[in-house]
Amino acid sequence: MYEDFRYTLVLAALVLTGCVRPQESSSPDGPLIIDGGTVVIMDEAGTILEGGAVLVESDRIAALLEPGAPRPDGATVIDATGHVVIPGLVNTHGHAAMSLLRGLADDMPLLTWLNDHIFPAEAALVAPDFVYWGTLLSSVEMLKGGTTTFADMYYFRDDMAQATVDAGIRAVTGPHVIGFPTPDYASPEESLADAAEFMERYQDHPTVVPAVAAHALYTTPLHAVEAAFRLAERYDAPFQIHAVEDPSENVTARELTGMGVIEALDSIGALRPGTVLAHSIYLSDEDIERIAASGAGIAHNPQSNMKLGVARAAPVAAALAAGIPVGLGTDGPASNNDLDMFDEMDAAAKVQKFMLGDPAALPAETVFRLATMGGARVLNLHHEIGSLEPGKRADIVLVDVRRPGLTPLYRVYSHLVYAARGSDVSTVIVNGRVVVRDREILTVDQDEVMERARGFGDRVREVMEDIAAARTADGTQAERQ
Ligand SMILES: [Zn+2]
Repeated sequence: MYEDFRYTLVLAALVLTGCVRPQESSSPDGPLIIDGGTVVIMDEAGTILEGGAVLVESDRIAALLEPGAPRPDGATVIDATGHVVIPGLVNTHGHAAMSLLRGLADDMPLLTWLNDHIFPAEAALVAPDFVYWGTLLSSVEMLKGGTTTFADMYYFRDDMAQATVDAGIRAVTGPHVIGFPTPDYASPEESLADAAEFMERYQDHPTVVPAVAAHALYTTPLHAVEAAFRLAERYDAPFQIHAVEDPSENVTARELTGMGVIEALDSIGALRPGTVLAHSIYLSDEDIERIAASGAGIAHNPQSNMKLGVARAAPVAAALAAGIPVGLGTDGPASNNDLDMFDEMDAAAKVQKFMLGDPAALPAETVFRLATMGGARVLNLHHEIGSLEPGKRADIVLVDVRRPGLTPLYRVYSHLVYAARGSDVSTVIVNGRVVVRDREILTVDQDEVMERARGFGDRVREVMEDIAAARTADGTQAERQ
């Protein structure tokens, strides 16, 4: 079976070569200036530079220029008049390839959704080409909506990483373990056996940040979670895990390990800067203290949580008060069901206010910080991304505010969090390269990506019909017996 899988990978690599026709994407040889916009720097002081410019040289921000300051000759100019210029948004949690399963099953509890729909569909369908095209589709959606970095956990790590490189988006991803056979590996041990090779290959990659993920303590034995964490630790890489999304997780963890989820992770040393605790809804005061002392961060996914009917929100305000790094995430496109980080900011602000009965909880500027610097800190990438400060990677987004829903503009953060949508983004730069211009993706052929996605949709429909028919047959047989 393992040989078959290798063969499939080689085949997929052949099929993929040349499948996506790169269009002209702009990576100017000389400096690039984004000039004349309202620049939201996201530095400690929260400075906003009205009418200023961001000077990009190669892959980094070289300088911020005041409105009247001289501009260097020979630079390529992007006119940002009528735009708010922001740091690229950071999506701290998701499963990008699941865009091909979006809308397949909704409106049911998490564990029913996973066990009766998503896991069987994935077992039948997920293969290198599925992951490649699903991730590419999501990458296009995210880039066009202003997200320049996303963290992901899914299968077929090589195909996933390749899709993000082809799309031109920054991705935090890599080896993944879960305690049952998956489409790519039969066991966590098998998944980890050649995982170091991935970590080595992407060590100095300009846009792929190698990271290790363990699905969750309710699906993965603690010793396998620990082995995955040790690999992340060896490479000083981010480590991702789902944590207390559902109240049953602490019960299961206690049965299996004698400890709650956060305590169990702490017992193996897995709480440290760069550890991403996705969801973190059912945290006790003791859990919050433990996380705060460790430097680990929380990926808060308010829309996914609300959609799955989790009857409370993650204690974000309390986590921030304790000094825990918090970022925002969409979660997978099958449990949200979009990848719009503007939408996520809006929801994050409102759900805390609603839960706490306090309109002052999580004000707009705080929420915008979560979606940028907060997310960067959660991923331990805050020295590289998350703000428009000189020296950082040039991940820059232009939001067009000459729109009916954004006119007039009094307070920038208010519009960014409560009124803007991903569709208001006009231009996106990742690592100094213009990847979206005037709302068009420049790196891949969007029509071809969608055509491929429709093809996978047909296959998904067929497989789900087969699964439903098999279930009915099993039921009939059981009744007869
Ligand atoms: Zn998730």
